[in-house]
This record gives sequence, structure tokens and C-alpha cells, in this order.
Amino acid sequence: MEFHIITLFPEMFESPFRAGMIGRAIDDGLIVLKAHPLREHGLGNYRQVDDAPYGGGSGMVMRVEPIASAIDAVNAQHPGLWRILMTPQGEVFDQSLARELAARAPGLMLIAGRYEGIDERVRSLVDQEISVGDYVLSGGEIPAMTVIEAVGRLIPGVLGNPESLDEESFADGMLEYPQYTRPEEFREMSVPEILLSGDHGKIREWRAAEAKRRTARRRPDLATRRKF
Ligand code: SAH
Repeated sequence: MEFHIITLFPEMFESPFRAGMIGRAIDDGLIVLKAHPLREHGLGNYRQVDDAPYGGGSGMVMRVEPIASAIDAVNAQHPGLWRILMTPQGEVFDQSLARELAARAPGLMLIAGRYEGIDERVRSLVDQEISVGDYVLSGGEIPAMTVIEAVGRLIPGVLGNPESLDEESFADGMLEYPQYTRPEEFREMSVPEILLSGDHGKIREWRAAEAKRRTARRRPDLATRRKF
């Protein structure tokens, strides 16, 4: 699976993915990650990528030509990538969208915006627009990293223990059950008896009931969607 990011700040993608599972997957060749500098496609001597908005207003808007030229250049080298524009106005990212994207071989091209926004005509150059949530960040780099991290760990072989994917939060439209490890007692809080019982059938039942209870209490929106 390949991830290609078009960004004004390619250096932002260096250290976050050197560590952990994604870092290992890159070393193992399961994931290819490359940040392409948008500045190289800027216009004129100053490599300009932004300009004042038509109609007036504050701030600068990213121009369409540098982005179009960067998309064409990445596409020429790596054809067939699914093109995603990071924008607070996009479809809200969630686990089921992460699963869909993990199946988009050969990979994704993620376009990160900056400034007050992006010329509307960029939308015609992409396959999908994605938001990471209902808040505004100052750039699309961290949203792109969020997508890469969530999609990357779904690629076969990336997670050391693939069974954990079936149990974790959102796998089944629910939150995960509570987890405990040693010690048995901490500041008068003890581990639920049942988990120490060794009765795997009962433990499975307890976990399913707890997952349901906590989803209903914390995320009624998820519970309604699953109808319980
Ligand atoms: N004025 C714009 C927001 C610009 S924020 C508006 O109101 O829609 C600058 C850039 O940060 C955007 O182009 C986008 O790439 C990125 N960004 C900010 N918040 C985001 C979010 N919630 N999800 C995805 N990208 C986001």
C-alpha cells in the first residue's frame, strides 16, 4: 500500500512514521510513504502557491495550478492512486471509511491544504474529500497523518496481532470492553472477579455485555445505529 502526500511541509511526515508499527511496516516494505513538496510546483521566481481571494476577504487562498501540477507529477510516477483532499468540509472520517480506503490498491494520494482554504476548482481534481472532524486545524498534514495511521494498521501484516482488529473499538460499531492487567488491586480498585475466574465462556459474555453497556452510555449515537 502506498501513501503519497502533497504538502507545503513534507518534513512534517518524517518523524511521526519512523516510530511504531507504521515505521516497522515501512522498513518491511509493506507500506510506502512519500511526501511530495508542493512548493516545487509554485509559480514564478517566488514559487508562489497562494493568492488573495476573488471578491475580497481576509487571508490567502491556495491556487489551483500548483496543486494540479503536483497531482499530475505524482500521478505520472505512481498511476492509479485514489485522490483525497483533506478539508473540514469533507465526509467525516471513521473506521468504516478507513476499511474502505485500505482496499484501494495501489494506494492513496492525500492533498493537504494550508491558509484560509483552497480554490474551489481543486475539488474537480480529486476522488473524495475527507474531514477528520468538526473542528478547524491550520493545515491538512495532521488530518492526512490520521488517515494514514488508521488505514495503515489495517493493511495485512502491519499489526503484530491481527486478531485485535476484530475486537477493538468500532470494529463492530461498538466501543471495546474494559481491559485490565496487573496488579489485581490498585488504590482499592480491583480487577473484576470474572476476569480471574479462568471461565472463558463467562468472560466472553461479560465482555460482550460491558461493550454494549458502555457504548449505550458513552456513545448513544453508535448504539442507535446498531439498534440496541
Ligand atoms: N477556511 C476553510 C478552512 C481552512 S483550514 C474552511 O472554512 O473550510 C486550512 C487547511 O487545513 C484546509 O485546507 C484543510 O486541508 C486542513 N484542515 C483543517 N481542518 C481540517 C479537518 N477538520 N479535516 C481535514 N482537513 C482539515
